[in-house]
Amino acid sequence: MALLTQLGKIAGDHNVFSSREERFCYAYDGTYHLHLPDVVVKPQSVEQIVKIIKLANDSGTPVFPRGAGTGLSGGSLPVRGGIALVLTDLDRILEIDDANQVAVVEPGVITGQLQAMVEERGMFYPPDPGSLEVCTIGGNIAECAGGPRGVKYGVTGDYVLGLELVTPTGDLIHTGGKTIKNVTGYDLTRLMVGSEGTLGIVTKAILRLIPLPKAVKTVLAVFNDLLQASEAILDVFRSGVTPATMEIMDAEAIKCVIEQAGAQLPLDAEAILLIEVDGLPSAVEEELAAVAESCLRHQARSVETAGTAEERNLLWQARRAISPSLVKLKPTKISEDATVPRAQVPTMIRRLQHIREKYSLNLVIFGHAGDGNLHPNIIADERDAGEMARVEAAVGEIFQAALELGGTLSGEHGIGLMKAPYMLAELGAPGLAYMRRIKQSLDPNNILNPGKIFSS
Ligand SMILES: Cc1cc2nc3c(=O)[nH]c(=O)nc-3n(C[C@H](O)[C@H](O)[C@H](O)COP(=O)(O)OP(=O)(O)OC[C@H]3O[C@@H](n4cnc5c(N)ncnc54)[C@H](O)[C@@H]3O)c2cc1C
Repeated sequence: MALLTQLGKIAGDHNVFSSREERFCYAYDGTYHLHLPDVVVKPQSVEQIVKIIKLANDSGTPVFPRGAGTGLSGGSLPVRGGIALVLTDLDRILEIDDANQVAVVEPGVITGQLQAMVEERGMFYPPDPGSLEVCTIGGNIAECAGGPRGVKYGVTGDYVLGLELVTPTGDLIHTGGKTIKNVTGYDLTRLMVGSEGTLGIVTKAILRLIPLPKAVKTVLAVFNDLLQASEAILDVFRSGVTPATMEIMDAEAIKCVIEQAGAQLPLDAEAILLIEVDGLPSAVEEELAAVAESCLRHQARSVETAGTAEERNLLWQARRAISPSLVKLKPTKISEDATVPRAQVPTMIRRLQHIREKYSLNLVIFGHAGDGNLHPNIIADERDAGEMARVEAAVGEIFQAALELGGTLSGEHGIGLMKAPYMLAELGAPGLAYMRRIKQSLDPNNILNPGKIFSS
C-alpha cells in the first residue's frame, strides 16, 4: 500500500494501475505465459523512472520494463509480481538529423512509425521485425530485434549509436553518441543492446540511418522440394548477390495461410522463397536475373517477380499472416528462433522435419532463412498434457540440433524466460558465470527484470 502511494506521488495517481483487471492487461506477452504484476506504472518522464528505480531498490521491489508486450521469449513478464514499468508513453521522435543521418527517439516510439517518417525524408531505418506496426524501439533494443532484412542490413544493434539509460541502481547515464566511431572505454551501448531489460532501462536512443534504396523488387520462387529450396538459398549467395530478404515457408505454413488467411499461394508447393533485392535500379535488375538462375538451378517450378506495389504487398501479407493463421488452429503457439550458420540451413531443415515426425506435432517451418534464422513454430493446446510433454521434448531437440550445427538458441527473440534453462548448453559453466557476474555487479539488488536470461 505504501508502495502504491509513493508510486502515485512520483508518476501521478492516474499513471499507476492496481486493479486486477488493469494488471491483467500487462500480464502477457507473445508467449503463452501469464504473470500478474502487483502494480503497473506508466512513467511520463526520465526523472520519474530514476525515482521509481531508486524506490524499487529501497523497498526490494522487482521492476519489469515493458514496451508493447510483443516479445516471444517472456522478457517483459512480471514473473515475481512487482512493478510492470510500461514505457509506451515516452514516445516522441525527438530529432531526425539529416546531415548526420541519425534519429534520436524515446523508447516508446513504434518501429514502423519511425520507419515511415525517415523514409519520407529519403532515409532508411532497416530493422523490420514482423511486429513493427506495434512494437517499440525500446523493446527492439532490449531484444536486439531482427527481421527479414537482417540478412543484408543486420539487426537493431547495428543501428544503435548511443543510448541514454537508467541503471538498475537509479543513475542516469549516456553511452556512445552521434559519431560513427567511438572507442572511449567499454562499449556499453553493445552491452545494453540485447540485454533484455536486465541491465538498464533505455530512455533515449540515437539511431543510425542510411540512404533509402532507390529500387526494390520482390520474387516468389515456388519449389516441389523443401531441401532444393534451401540449397537455392546458398546458391543465391554464391552467385554474389546479397538479397535484402530471403524468407522461406514450408508446405505446412503455406497451407495454413491459404486456409486461414486466404493467401494466394500454390497449395501443392513444398516450399516457397520470398526474395527481395534492392539498391540502384540497374543493379537490382542484374541481381534479379541472378536470383532467378539460382532458383531454377535448384528445380524451382516457377520464379515470378511482383509487378506492382500491390502484388508485392500481397506476398508480404501472406508471409506476415503465418503467426495469426497458426493461432486459429490451436491456442498455444511455441515460437522458436534457433539459428544456424547459413550453410547448415538444409541440414537444420532435415532435423526439424525429423523432429516433427518423431513427436507427431504440428510444427511449421518458416523464417529468415537467408541468415539461418529459421522459425520452427509448434502449434499445440496447453490443456493437453501429453501434447505439451512432446512439445517440451521437441523444443529441447531443436536447440540441441542448432547447437550441434554450430548455431545458437536465439537469433533475435531473446532468452527471456523460455530459453533460460538451455543457456548452460550453449555457453558452458564459465561463460554463463561470466555473464552472471556482469548482472550481479550492475544490479546488486537484482531489481531489474529478475528471473530472465538466468534460470535462477
Ligand atoms: C507477430 C510477431 C512477429 C514478430 N516478428 C519478429 C521478427 O521478425 N523479429 C524479431 O526480432 N522479433 C519479432 N517479434 C518479437 C517482438 O516483436 C520483438 O522482440 C520486439 O522487439 C519486442 O518489442 P516490444 O516493444 O513489444 O517489447 P516487449 O515485449 O514489451 O519487451 C521485450 C523486452 O524488452 C524489455 N524492454 C522493453 N522496453 C525496454 C526499455 N525501454 N528499456 C529496457 N528494456 C526494455 C522488456 O523488459 C523485455 O525483456 C515478433 C512478435 C510478434 C508477436
